[in-house]
Amino acid sequence: MRVMAQICMVMNLDKCIGCHTCSVTCKQTWTSRPGVEYVWFNNVETRPGQGYPRRYEDQERWRGGWKLTARGRLVPKAGGRMRRLASIFANPLLPNIRDYYEPWTYDYNALFDTPAGDDFPVAAPRSLISGERMDNITWSANWDDNLGGMPQHEGDDVVLQRIQDKVRMELEQTFMFYLPRICEHCINPSCVASCPSGALYKRVEDGIVLVDQDRCRGWRMCVTGCPYKKMYFNHRTGKAEKCTFCFPRIEVGQPTVCSETCVGRLRYIGVLLYDADRAPAAAATPREQDLYPAQLDLFLNPHDPDVRRAAEAAGIPHDWIQAARRSPVYDLIATYGVALPLHPEYRTLPMVWYVPPLSPVVEAITASGHDGEDYRNLFGAIDTLRIPVSYLAELFTAGDPAPVELALRRLAAMRSHRRRINLGEPVDPEIAASVGFDVE
Ligand code: SF4
Ligand code: SF4
Repeated sequence: MRVMAQICMVMNLDKCIGCHTCSVTCKQTWTSRPGVEYVWFNNVETRPGQGYPRRYEDQERWRGGWKLTARGRLVPKAGGRMRRLASIFANPLLPNIRDYYEPWTYDYNALFDTPAGDDFPVAAPRSLISGERMDNITWSANWDDNLGGMPQHEGDDVVLQRIQDKVRMELEQTFMFYLPRICEHCINPSCVASCPSGALYKRVEDGIVLVDQDRCRGWRMCVTGCPYKKMYFNHRTGKAEKCTFCFPRIEVGQPTVCSETCVGRLRYIGVLLYDADRAPAAAATPREQDLYPAQLDLFLNPHDPDVRRAAEAAGIPHDWIQAARRSPVYDLIATYGVALPLHPEYRTLPMVWYVPPLSPVVEAITASGHDGEDYRNLFGAIDTLRIPVSYLAELFTAGDPAPVELALRRLAAMRSHRRRINLGEPVDPEIAASVGFDVE
């Protein structure tokens, strides 16, 4: 066993209100400079939606997808040697500015300087990169807010008919939620593997993935190589840049800027201890649906004295071992199983995990008049959640609904349990027993 420490973040999606405070404070801190105007190290995207950059999850678009070699290495599926060489000189497999969307500001002076006329003056949008007027903006962050997903995918005519027949019912079945994203600081980072200059590296002490600006030659293979598209190119300096997990703040015991300023208080930062010897096999797990349990299996219980001794023997500082014991991330991920990884099928072993949103139970509300806070509604009606379990499973467990269901049931049980306590009602042991753990 080779014990290593890894910084980790868990985000509770039920609490995100899509206010973008995290994105803006991160931008002011890290990317408010020429060359990275379009860059959001932290972005908050609408789900269902195309994401940022657009269609980043379409892995076939970037080098035709990925494959595992016999030795467990992750390589581009269509990436022969010649293609890799060619792409170094003309890497076409990059998102363009339209995928990221060109940032703009408004020409506010026009409101004051325009001579009097028949029409009201307009503050036209102007590109923050070129300074040109942008009269035909076709895409921007969260434009998919208006497209709330429909759980039933039927023909347009059928949906239209049903909307006419049961407008209220249909509106209750639309859904959307927000997904805040930063670099995953993966245990098996493909950005590091794809850099021809050796400029990207994963810090041994805390697992933070960084770019050595002096070594970066601007090949941008990392932008192509990161399946989460969390590598960015600074078009002024010609170097790659990325989320640093605010390492200067972490090193002095402060949280990241996005966590500290999060309005929903939904970000939990912590330290995980894991067995690095098991990581290659976990990333190379043959069946995609086994990747989530394989990654879970990496993490070591920081409350176990044997693990603590092994961590000390591996040279992990005492305060990091203590941080692993005190932080809630291990329990959220491993003890309770309520936090799940984003797209484990990318095989990079991502280290930003998510508590899935516990949406209301649609039929329970409409049929019985009860709200979705009563755990019994959820237990009997997992298929009638507003956000389909199958959709969440695509995001978090490579399509396996079972871990998502269990997480949602436990969240509902915990919510019911806490509500009973807050209302001064007796604790119901059935709640705890029904989800297989002790709800204290
Ligand atoms: Fe690298 Fe992308 Fe993983 Fe971040 S999310 S560590 S940029 S592969
Ligand atoms: Fe969501 Fe917090 Fe970011 Fe607001 S600040 S969008 S609540 S993650």
